Amino acid sequence: MKHVNLLILDDKEENIVSLSALLSEVEHIHIISSTDPNEALKICWKNDIAIALVDVQMPEINGFEFVSLLKSNPKTNHIMAIMVTAISKEDKYLLKGLESGAVDYLYKPLNPEITIAKVSSFVSQIHIQEEIKQKNIALEESQRQLILAKEEAEEARKSKESFLANMSHEIRTPINGIVGIIHILRNTSLNDEQRDWINRLDSASNSLLLIINDILDISKIDSGMMRIEYENFSIHKKLTDISNFFKIKALDKHITFETIIDPQLPEYIKSSPIRIQQIIDNFISNALKFTKEGRITLKASVVEQEDAQCTIKFTVTDTGIGIKSEALEKIFLAFEQGDDSITKKYGGTGLGLAIVKRLADLLDGKIEAESTYGVGSTFSFQATFQKIEDFKQQETLDTEAIPSLHKFDHVRILVAEDNELNSFMLEHILKSWGCEVDVAKNGHIAIEYVNQYDYDLIMMDTHMPVMSGFEAIQEIKTHPNPQKASTPIITISASVLEHEQAAAYEAGADSVIGKPFDPIDLYQKIDKLISKRV
Ligand code: ADP
Repeated sequence: MKHVNLLILDDKEENIVSLSALLSEVEHIHIISSTDPNEALKICWKNDIAIALVDVQMPEINGFEFVSLLKSNPKTNHIMAIMVTAISKEDKYLLKGLESGAVDYLYKPLNPEITIAKVSSFVSQIHIQEEIKQKNIALEESQRQLILAKEEAEEARKSKESFLANMSHEIRTPINGIVGIIHILRNTSLNDEQRDWINRLDSASNSLLLIINDILDISKIDSGMMRIEYENFSIHKKLTDISNFFKIKALDKHITFETIIDPQLPEYIKSSPIRIQQIIDNFISNALKFTKEGRITLKASVVEQEDAQCTIKFTVTDTGIGIKSEALEKIFLAFEQGDDSITKKYGGTGLGLAIVKRLADLLDGKIEAESTYGVGSTFSFQATFQKIEDFKQQETLDTEAIPSLHKFDHVRILVAEDNELNSFMLEHILKSWGCEVDVAKNGHIAIEYVNQYDYDLIMMDTHMPVMSGFEAIQEIKTHPNPQKASTPIITISASVLEHEQAAAYEAGADSVIGKPFDPIDLYQKIDKLISKRV
């Protein structure tokens, strides 16, 4: 244990000697003494004194004044002062000492036991205080480390987010070009062989897009950026849509597809229809992929039902190749497939079920898999949902009802896009709708065009060299010419991250279109913005 420095101040040398002798029994103290208050003050400033035993009656500065001086100096105000006095124990002296900042009194003639007990108790108090101080320092240090670690984690999260945004943009941009060109080619005269090539190209680019979406999904979930949007919807309609879609695919493979829906299944529930569909789609896609003949069954059964809640189990059963029991344990891990031969024969990234498992967790549900190798597999997702009673679902837009695309009349559009394939494709599509098109390779050139010409609409890519799309939008939207400032702007965002799309609106964009985009969707957005303007 650390020694505590104790000062004895007494104008009489013999008192110092006797008190020092008395205190020799007290452990862990180092005694420093002085007969002169001025010298004692200097000792206190220079040394780490913890306790001072101060004689009250001294010629130049009395004990009360000495303690007041100690207490008025921030360097010495922590010292515990004990007054040593022969004066009567009257209250006025007691108070005077305490007011000056002393913590206790010792009365002459000194009682050895009391003196030793008091000093020992102050010494142990100082030790406890020291221990608390050290613990506080350690606590502050660990707090600092924690803040540092949190900042580092936040930094890592941000760089992952920007990596995601960039990767999403960089990969989606060329795919956008490919999908667009496929769209243009489809509308040209092709022989059967060429049409077949185009279809293969289409399916390859769609697979590529699916893989990218999977990688982005898993990264988004793992970095805590996947937000589940809850809404009221008809679970019956969702299941019908899913079955209708897969029935056709199953028919192509000569596999029977059946759907069994529990009559107890509520009509409407509150959850995330997109994520539920993603889970079921994944099960059925796998079932289709790994089944050569037989049957695939989608079943929705009610496990438990109360007034406001309902536990539903969605099960997909197939008569496919099945999964070996040792492989069953790892198929929910990212990038894991049943066995290596699966990749060679069936393709895939091993991400589908890992995403499904994470989505189920986000929805507070559970996933189960059972399989008999060579016989077939059953995958299920079970969760508890809030039941919704009176709810009118908004009619979704029937794609059949989209009017045939008429040509735009005298519409001049500026396309600001640095990727040549994309700007070529956009220019071509827009021209096929009768638009006059100018192309700018970056935001800076786009501004120059806007200053020079009047546009009915601007299509602005977000990531461009020299001047980004966001900066260019801000500049256009604050243009001194109100006509130019009000030109509608559609941002072409390759990012699937919500915050980047929100940033586009914040910058002043009127609409956002993703990459790759659906040409019909783009046509409708342009039509809407232009008709608003006229
Ligand atoms: P992948 O994209 O490779 O199919 P998944 O995560 O969807 O990735 O599936 C992981 C693995 O689980 C597959 O490679 C396959 O071995 C196995 N698997 C999944 N569903 C089935 C099924 N219905 N029948 C047989 N094997 C399956």
